[in-house]
Amino acid sequence: MSARILDGREVAEAVRAEVAERVAALAKQGKVPGLATVLVGDDPASHVYVRSKRRLAEKVGINSLHFELDTDATQDEVESLVLRLNADPAVDGILVQLPLPGDLDDKRVTSLIDPNKDADGLHPYNLGLLALERAVLVPCTPQGVMRILSHYGINPTGMRAVIVGRSFLVGRPLSMLLAAKGTDATVTTAHSRTPDIAAVAREADILVAAVGVPGLIGRDAVKPGATVIDVGINRTEQGLVGDVAFDEVREVAGAITPVPGGVGPMTVAMLMRNTVAAAERSMG
Ligand code: NAD
Repeated sequence: MSARILDGREVAEAVRAEVAERVAALAKQGKVPGLATVLVGDDPASHVYVRSKRRLAEKVGINSLHFELDTDATQDEVESLVLRLNADPAVDGILVQLPLPGDLDDKRVTSLIDPNKDADGLHPYNLGLLALERAVLVPCTPQGVMRILSHYGINPTGMRAVIVGRSFLVGRPLSMLLAAKGTDATVTTAHSRTPDIAAVAREADILVAAVGVPGLIGRDAVKPGATVIDVGINRTEQGLVGDVAFDEVREVAGAITPVPGGVGPMTVAMLMRNTVAAAERSMG
């Protein structure tokens, strides 16, 4: 058996169309949503990510405002830029591309963003609302994973979900979304100190890998028929690969996301969705 491929590009296209419609509805009220992207330093991967975010923003009719600071920018400089964008009425969403270089404090910068403009959904206030199941701006990658599941009719209710990785960016918010009332998966979060990851992962009906270790999840870690969502993006000599050994796992899984073309495009699409949601709220 070969797993069904969950095509993130196809799902992202559906989200893009939905966002473009909402942008058009705002335009009728005289509002053009604005997304400010902030890029600090010269990390090539960050440049690629920000470029694709700006490109999609322009495609759906969101005004893209871009700001770059040098690698040696100070914490004060980054923070002043964020405060300026908070005060700018043309800006509905702010994305500071993480990680920030050197000793810059990501968490401090994230928590300075106006929670109403927090396009990434990572401000402590928005993560708090997520814990209360009342979030409007939901972190983009976890939101994208949920959308892939719903698009393909995979209903987590009553399923065992195992998430490998407990970061604030992916694993932790995703565990809240999957366990939320109305979604109702039974969730286990595994991490670097979990003994025998493969044994834990094998219990999953829905297995999510969000680690950053190429090929960490092999076929021995997958229950036959499980849905496998690969969030990992690893740059190797063979090109971009995920955390899942795709070729062997697709032989046992029921459904699987590829890398590239799985969760990655969803993250960018959900950023646009959050920006439009923020713009709609600013209009009351
Ligand atoms: P992170 O480094 O913040 O967190 C990694 C997590 O994996 C930690 O919780 C750690 O405990 C766990 N871990 C580390 N080694 C492990 C091991 N050997 N076994 C089990 N758990 C282990 O990373 P992150 O920001 O959550 O990103 C994870 C991966 O997802 C990276 O490859 C990143 O590039 C990718 N990513 C992809 C997208 C996307 O849009 N597809 C978005 C964000 C991150």
